[in-house]
Amino acid sequence: MAGEHRAAFVYEDVMSRHVLSEGHPMRPVRLQYTNALLRAYGAFDAPGALVIEPRPASVEELTTFHKEFYVEIVQRLSNGDSVEQAHRFGFSNDGDNPIYKGMYQAALLSTGASVQAAELVADGTVPVAFAPAGGLHHAMAGHASGFCVFNDPVIAINVLRKRGKRVVYIDIDAHHGDGVQAAYYADADVMTISIHEGGRWLFPGTGDVVEVGRGDGEGYSVNVPLFPYTGDEVFLDAFDAVVPPLIEAFKPDVIATQLGVDTYLHDPLTHLALTTHGYESAIERLRALGVPWLAFGGGGYDLDAVPRCWAMAYAIMLGLELPNELPEGVDAFLESPMLRDGQVSMEADVEEQTRTFARERTEEVRERIFPFHGLS
Ligand SMILES: [Zn+2]
Repeated sequence: MAGEHRAAFVYEDVMSRHVLSEGHPMRPVRLQYTNALLRAYGAFDAPGALVIEPRPASVEELTTFHKEFYVEIVQRLSNGDSVEQAHRFGFSNDGDNPIYKGMYQAALLSTGASVQAAELVADGTVPVAFAPAGGLHHAMAGHASGFCVFNDPVIAINVLRKRGKRVVYIDIDAHHGDGVQAAYYADADVMTISIHEGGRWLFPGTGDVVEVGRGDGEGYSVNVPLFPYTGDEVFLDAFDAVVPPLIEAFKPDVIATQLGVDTYLHDPLTHLALTTHGYESAIERLRALGVPWLAFGGGGYDLDAVPRCWAMAYAIMLGLELPNELPEGVDAFLESPMLRDGQVSMEADVEEQTRTFARERTEEVRERIFPFHGLS
């Protein structure tokens, strides 16, 4: 494979410079830290690495999912124009989706990066492309939601579908991938699988196993809710029980994955308890599926964990082993003394509770979903 591109990283620093609002938990600077950490490790000089500067998405691309009126409203708000009842479209200055100058351009660029990643994979330029600014899985066709203005996973998957590709979307963010599920709820050409903290404890409140899809799409929406405090082992067991058999049955041409890091045990917004070890193993499992791979970022509000986890993810895509010892200079933005976490132990009764809950949910998935795919 000498000389061939192995993994694309679609990013430029302008994507990390905007601030949503003072004190907002979504901090785009985490992308800059990820990029700086990978650079310090020399990852972009490794064989097969390919860094691509993104271009903005076009309105035509956006409207494969979003309503035209909504795209216009985002543009007007971004320009500082007043819009009657902006809250109807998910925006408010003190809420999850604040209005800020340049919001439209920032959203176009992160969506465009995901589209470009999709094109690189569809063209066969690379077997895997990672767009870390993407993964904004909550945005709906006509309104913003959960820090997400445009749903880049849907826009990018639509690019793949236009080329006749069958896609499985796999979402390992702590939150349910509700916007992507909604886009393909009645569609058998895209399967969505979301593994997340259960909706009774966390935004957006959906993602129960009973949400299996509708009409032609029945059996193609897959949800594995997990109990708060679920850790590495239980998370990975749930993944193994559901994802590989469904991939085997559906035989996608491409997997599209949302790689949120808010499953992390110190994430300030959620209650799952994964360490870097669980995250890294999940990424290794995605690679082992052996399918052309489009990867997005996603949530992640612990700024010490996100750069480490996404650097590990890109290294796995490249087939590069990152030493645990951090390169010089990264202590300017990382607190952790090492790339990977130390040992974290969990109380046995808590772990037992999370295990029982996960086992019941995966059993339910096997009962409700597997028969649609000839699996038992
Ligand atoms: Zn999330």
